Amino acid sequence: MFHANDNYLKLRGSYLFSTVARKVREFKEAEPDKSVISLGIGDVTQPLAPVIIDALHDAVDEMAHADTFRGYAPDLGYEFLRHAMAEEDYRARGCDIQDDEVFISDGAKSDSGNIQEIFSDRDVIAVCDPVYPVYVDSNVMAGRTGTFLEDSNTWSDVVYMPCTEENGFAPELPERTPDIIYLCFPNNPLGTVLTKSQLQTWVDYANRVGAVIIFDAAYEAYIQDDPNAADEDRIPHTIYECEGARTCAIEIRSFSKNAGFTGVRLGATIVPKDLKDQNGTPMHDLWARRHGTKYNGAPYIIQKAGLAVYSPEGRKQLGEQVGYYMENAKMIRTSLQKAGYTAFGGVNAPYIWLKTPQGMTSWDFFDHLLEKVQVVGTPGSGFGPHGEGYFRLTAFGTHEDTKEALERIRTL
Ligand code: PLP
Repeated sequence: MFHANDNYLKLRGSYLFSTVARKVREFKEAEPDKSVISLGIGDVTQPLAPVIIDALHDAVDEMAHADTFRGYAPDLGYEFLRHAMAEEDYRARGCDIQDDEVFISDGAKSDSGNIQEIFSDRDVIAVCDPVYPVYVDSNVMAGRTGTFLEDSNTWSDVVYMPCTEENGFAPELPERTPDIIYLCFPNNPLGTVLTKSQLQTWVDYANRVGAVIIFDAAYEAYIQDDPNAADEDRIPHTIYECEGARTCAIEIRSFSKNAGFTGVRLGATIVPKDLKDQNGTPMHDLWARRHGTKYNGAPYIIQKAGLAVYSPEGRKQLGEQVGYYMENAKMIRTSLQKAGYTAFGGVNAPYIWLKTPQGMTSWDFFDHLLEKVQVVGTPGSGFGPHGEGYFRLTAFGTHEDTKEALERIRTL
């Protein structure tokens, strides 16, 4: 008789987004004449840029001819894309990353969920609170998180690093030493960032205690560079800008938010060859083995579209697309502040993290916004206990919807 994997039975229901969807559905059924605007989604709304569409068409045409047809892609990615990423995302920023340290994948969600497989199931993970839920759930599935504590809404064997207004939403070095540290900056859901010197503290810590940092850089394209900032105050685009990161960090990249590939699917993970466990095992080799065994490569057509991101025209068009969303972010942040809300983020990230008014819980505020002005956001408590009393709005809507939603919130 077969048995279900017990670890899967420990997973908490996908409470957050399913509850949001149910509440919106029920509201629409009850009030069919009212138009609901969502600033809750983390999905992009702008179409793929022309340069990407052209690259896709060209690659599709290549598939129609025997001499240019491609079958299975190399499991670790086509050389042309691995080279472009290593060169443009890393070496151009002075970071020593080689082409074969870049592993192409179908996105940051799979990589951030799968990466834990190459580590021991005895390793202890540390996550920010609030957090992108994939890091925790993938470790629950692997049996690494202990038991769920209903009282505190936490897992017994996970180290939580609160990100609060008091610490400027920058996690502090934990008291219990973890083995695997998940960091995501610019942050989802907070929309906040770390400076280079703050990130350097984490790299130094990880090297000192023998931990690995899984650095999720999915929102790197939203960083607004300040040419006048001192080096230590700059916002790093990659963890490899920090000294010593090659021996303690894995970085995860996505094409979803910089190029609108949420439905196209493309990402990458960087595993430096200098990253070795306590017995000297290179984690690069394990990830290559894992990738080669379980993954048959991102499609040629999609990788060609990914390459177009790095062309001069691609950079221009995608810079404009990111600029479009950042205008929304600015509009959200400033209108909320004008209306008396305390709002964070939205300067180097497409997320705005606002404090609920009058001490409302995150879910009370969700209901209040939906019922009174038909605007949907995401309750902060769904991202972790320290998200209670906060609410996430995203800049991924259209200008028109965003403007209308803010106008409605202003009238509250
Ligand atoms: N990492 C973070 C922090 C995210 O917020 C998201 C998506 O919202 C992802 C990864 C997923 O990215 P992808 O679309 O490349 O799977």
